[in-house]
Amino acid sequence: MFENLDAVPPDPILGILAAYAADTNPRKIDLGIGVYRDETGNTPMLKCVVEAEKTLIATQTTKSYLGPRGVVGFNDAMGDLIFGRDSDTIAQGRVRTVQTPGGTAALRVGADLIRQAWPEATLWASDPTWANHLALFPAAGLPMESYPYFDEINSDLRYDDMMAALRHRGPGDVVLFHACCHNPCGVSPNPAQWEAITDLAAERGFTPMIDIAYMGFERGVEEDTLAVRLFSEKCPEVIVASSCSKNFAVYRERAGALSIVCENKQKAADVESVIHSLTRKSYSMPPAHGPGIIDIILHSDELTELWISEVTGMRNRINGLRKILSEKITASGISKDFSFLERQSGMFSFLGLSVEQVARLKNEFAIYTVNSARVNVASFNEGNMDYFIEALATVL
Ligand code: PLP
Repeated sequence: MFENLDAVPPDPILGILAAYAADTNPRKIDLGIGVYRDETGNTPMLKCVVEAEKTLIATQTTKSYLGPRGVVGFNDAMGDLIFGRDSDTIAQGRVRTVQTPGGTAALRVGADLIRQAWPEATLWASDPTWANHLALFPAAGLPMESYPYFDEINSDLRYDDMMAALRHRGPGDVVLFHACCHNPCGVSPNPAQWEAITDLAAERGFTPMIDIAYMGFERGVEEDTLAVRLFSEKCPEVIVASSCSKNFAVYRERAGALSIVCENKQKAADVESVIHSLTRKSYSMPPAHGPGIIDIILHSDELTELWISEVTGMRNRINGLRKILSEKITASGISKDFSFLERQSGMFSFLGLSVEQVARLKNEFAIYTVNSARVNVASFNEGNMDYFIEALATVL
């Protein structure tokens, strides 16, 4: 049987990780991998997570199965966080949130749900979008198309082109949006543009699916849920895939959730039962540890406050790096305009370099990034920024 299988090339990011690990240059920099890093290059555990984990271990009495809903307190707290504790959508019982192993599984179960509900549905994603979106939706049998999003010349949003394209979408189309900190381009609609996009969704009747993987990294924990809240106020049905990997820094614990907004309370209960039947057929039961930690944090005022301050710290560091990098590049005499770094948000931006320039960064300077020149801004620090700018000036 396996004679029919050929090796699959590794994910480019994993290839970069391996090449970076093998490189002996002491000045090497990894700008590829999408994890937050502090000034020392470490991906730290948050203090609120360490505290909550102690409580979890001290109070846990069993490792028996959780049941298909996962940690119920986590689901409730995530629902409140994403839709707003006082939201009408929650009060009307129209929302159901089900824990999944990370945001990726939320997207995959969401894709399976869409296929089950509407087998002819097409998923429309921004051009560009997260590389794994391009793999996972077709893997679930969901055809994918794209709508214009990123203006490579001006490093900005192609707002008018996007709106013109979305005007052609309607029932049977699912349109995927990044709620904040777009991966890979760092460009988001502003609040007024979200108003117009969500009005258009209501008018045209397409189904919004929102990937919220960086809540708190753009403007603030609550501010970054704006798109979810507007869509769920205006549209009868919304699908939300959330991830706690980055904002709680619990990457390996696989904490995420799939939320669905339905027309009414009864439909929400029905759809939740379909989600359980889908997950039972794939991973059967969700993991307990990461969501157990987050449940404790979000049910403690003190730990929630600490978490918000730690997310704020990560966001401020990234925004600070964006500003310093942009200013230092200008001061270095590089004539190409990199001021977009400051206007964009989250960990990722495209540097606008050619594949040849990316290869020179690697071969001549041990600076690693993917061929698209998407960089993780959080990988910069005081110790490596000047070296990077020298290298950038050389390859430009
Ligand atoms: N969505 C986007 C846009 C992402 O960048 C990521 C992770 O990099 C995810 C979803 C899913 O993250 P995870 O499955 O690690 O929770």
